[in-house]
Amino acid sequence: MSVDVDCVVVGAGVVGLAVARALAMGGREVILVEAGEGIGVGISSRNSEVIHAGIYYPSGSLKARLCVEGKQRLYAFCDDHGVNYRRLGKLIVAIDDAQRVTLQGLLEQGRRNGVDDLQWLEAGQARALEPELSCVAALWSPSTGIVDSHGLMLALQADAEALGASLAFHTPLLSARCSEQGFELHMGGAEPMTLSCRELINCAGLSAPEVASRIAGLPTQYVPQARLCKGSYFSFSGRAPFRHLVYPAPESAGLGVHMTLDLAGQARFGPDVEWVDRVDYRVDPARADGFYAAIRRYWPGLPNDSLQPAYSGIRPKISGPNEPAADFRISGPAEHGIPGLVNLFGIESPGLTSCLALAAHVMNSLHL
Ligand SMILES: Cc1cc2nc3c(=O)[nH]c(=O)nc-3n(C[C@H](O)[C@H](O)[C@H](O)COP(=O)(O)OP(=O)(O)OC[C@H]3O[C@@H](n4cnc5c(N)ncnc54)[C@H](O)[C@@H]3O)c2cc1C
Repeated sequence: MSVDVDCVVVGAGVVGLAVARALAMGGREVILVEAGEGIGVGISSRNSEVIHAGIYYPSGSLKARLCVEGKQRLYAFCDDHGVNYRRLGKLIVAIDDAQRVTLQGLLEQGRRNGVDDLQWLEAGQARALEPELSCVAALWSPSTGIVDSHGLMLALQADAEALGASLAFHTPLLSARCSEQGFELHMGGAEPMTLSCRELINCAGLSAPEVASRIAGLPTQYVPQARLCKGSYFSFSGRAPFRHLVYPAPESAGLGVHMTLDLAGQARFGPDVEWVDRVDYRVDPARADGFYAAIRRYWPGLPNDSLQPAYSGIRPKISGPNEPAADFRISGPAEHGIPGLVNLFGIESPGLTSCLALAAHVMNSLHL
């Protein structure tokens, strides 16, 4: 079977769904193809579900800009579409004087990024908010929240479909070829088919570099090497120790083992940092030892034997362990010169927060 459409989006995670919705809102005929059995089978269901404020990222980076813009768009979208969220606020804590300096840097970075509601708290002020916390100082970010990521994806899907977009599950993109008219795509699944389209948006998450490498006509210099960085989570069996999200001062490849709450108020800790060479989401119970040590630095009251392995996610990085963190790489015609093609690489955190701003950015990058 051969089908001709305006746009094909690859991957039905939160980003592919937001992009399909934006394209459909722009009046295009859209098919969203997904290798798995439904929406959100990738890392969009394997994260902290935090709506980030936009503090950590270098000024002017896509992560900084799209996180701050995305947070505003996301809160408004959740209000309009009845998606469950809570603006809980978050504390980033310093446990010694060296980390105090790190926090001061974060306060300035956040303000440069347009996060203008951050507040500096001395230890006593932080403990007034969270009595079980051990710290010498903290940053208070009132605009940080949590969101029901699956509810968000369902709302994006409903919007996209109402605007005429179609979703095809069990339909992996196997290969593609650039032509004068656009793209010819070979799809696998129970009924292999050929799709032709004028615009192709690759939102395949961890597989985005691999998908891009199968596009004949796209030179290899425009395809970064995929680096996988796993983060495991442990759930806490007792009553949550904090009412707000609590983060340590950030580490090199992640934000540190933090405590988030789910919408039911249950606490979980994670993610840690483990560079891996394949996708395996099993959580090794032995990693709990590192969690107890990391958490007790800011919560000495963590009881023994209170953590259970929960789940893991894998960060789709495009920079390695000893390299500076890469920015989101939205590689459109301005970068590679192929009209109608946009590859989204390195969409790690804050990709969930940024999904609506990423979609708007993709719409702009489609034009040379
Ligand atoms: C541990 C962890 C914690 C995080 N915490 C946060 C957080 O608190 N806040 C935040 O803002 N962000 C967070 N993130 C980042 C966020 O989860 C991601 O940026 C976001 O989910 C990326 O969505 P996506 O749609 O790009 O990828 P995915 O959700 O992985 O979707 C990609 C889809 O593409 C499909 N696919 C792959 N290959 C093909 C193919 N050949 N053909 C068709 N389909 C294909 C996959 O099956 C998958 O469904 C976190 C990430 C991790 C790993």
